[in-house]
Amino acid sequence: MLPFKLIYSEKYFLPIGEHVFRADKYRLIRERLLREGVAEASDFLEPQLASEDDLLLVHSPFYVNKLMEGGLSAREELQMEIPYSPQVVEAFLLHTGGSILAAERALQDGVCMNLGGGFHHAFPDHGEGFCMMNDFAVAIRVMQKRGKIRRAMTVDCDVHQGNGTAAIFGGAGQKAGTLPSSGGGLEVVSASNGPAKDVFTISLHQEHNYPFVKPASSIDVNLPDGCGDEEYLAWLDNALSSGLRQFEPELICYVAGADPFCEDQLGGLNLTVAGLKQRDELVFRAARARGIPIMTTYAGGYANRVEDTVAIHCNTVIAAAEVCRAETTAER
Ligand SMILES: [Zn+2]
Repeated sequence: MLPFKLIYSEKYFLPIGEHVFRADKYRLIRERLLREGVAEASDFLEPQLASEDDLLLVHSPFYVNKLMEGGLSAREELQMEIPYSPQVVEAFLLHTGGSILAAERALQDGVCMNLGGGFHHAFPDHGEGFCMMNDFAVAIRVMQKRGKIRRAMTVDCDVHQGNGTAAIFGGAGQKAGTLPSSGGGLEVVSASNGPAKDVFTISLHQEHNYPFVKPASSIDVNLPDGCGDEEYLAWLDNALSSGLRQFEPELICYVAGADPFCEDQLGGLNLTVAGLKQRDELVFRAARARGIPIMTTYAGGYANRVEDTVAIHCNTVIAAAEVCRAETTAER
């Protein structure tokens, strides 16, 4: 049995047809976790649909209405890059409900993983880049509204910048210089943290990739094409330490994209499967060492072979379990 819960529904499948975004990955991840004995059936929790009121904490009434009534224009559908249908809306509502449940359980158990979500390209008033609703931004706002937390941090390690998240929470970016690491030219933009800032956003991504306009996160690490494991991990370590020095979150929301992988069709970084697992361990250890509850969402993953995407996502579960178990051993 895992030391935390996994949130999953077979209705996470998005009916979007032949697509580079393999919406069957969620089912394949669950099957692999069970087959390999990483998880058992009792580790899984079934989410409920997010409500319209939940969505309205992040998304504009006009946009939510268009989603519910099927009123998206052809241009808006094109920008989302997935076909609109009421079934797709329902699946996104379920992923969002999954992130709300994951946030709740993370606050209760210390760790929780939504085996879905991570739709970081969804803005308040529109969707883009396969993302219709920003599930984890909604989850953070729901936790704040319920009085469970005041401050949260997002740590987005998808290969694509978290533009929707940055737009929602505001980066108020100011150039804060370059973090002292290998290779120069990497730009870190750090927020001027006004007293009202309640969500701190970190994004590590490939600079020369979608989205071409990148609204400022609190910390943006613009990585060069072909960046490998070692360099990536050094930057992540720097960004996490820097972020956690500036800001004390009561919840970390980790966006564990599988697309920094070297064989990803939509990514241009050069991480290995092992390097991605080290990345996960680094994030979980940073949270756990400080006693900060952490929830995870999956975001992208478009490896040439879907099995690689599935293996990388499963490793995130394994990494979290190993970090938690190592603490228990150390306590004995
Ligand atoms: Zn991505």
